[in-house]
Amino acid sequence: MLQWCQRRLGPSRCRTIRVVDRARPEYYGWWDWDRTIWINVRWIKSRTQLYRVLAHEWTHAQQRWRDYKKGIPLGEGNPLEIEARKRERSLEFWPAGIAPHKLRK
Ligand SMILES: [Zn+2]
Repeated sequence: MLQWCQRRLGPSRCRTIRVVDRARPEYYGWWDWDRTIWINVRWIKSRTQLYRVLAHEWTHAQQRWRDYKKGIPLGEGNPLEIEARKRERSLEFWPAGIAPHKLRK
């Protein structure tokens, strides 16, 4: 997964991708702002979703916490959050054969 991310999305500060199965938090994944992306398989129902989560968190791994903190609010609506969502939905990283426009409204 790490190699796939590097190839498709470019370098980031992420050095490890860890897969966990946790009821809480109810997140698909998260970036710890250090060097690890956590993928929570409990809530991931498809390969497509996994790729989206990877693209989203990887984008955060290319951003700086300093800048993220500056954004108001911290969660939804944060400028860097919006950037990550855009990346998640963009076509550039999609593996052949999986087209997000077929899955998204
Ligand atoms: Zn995010």
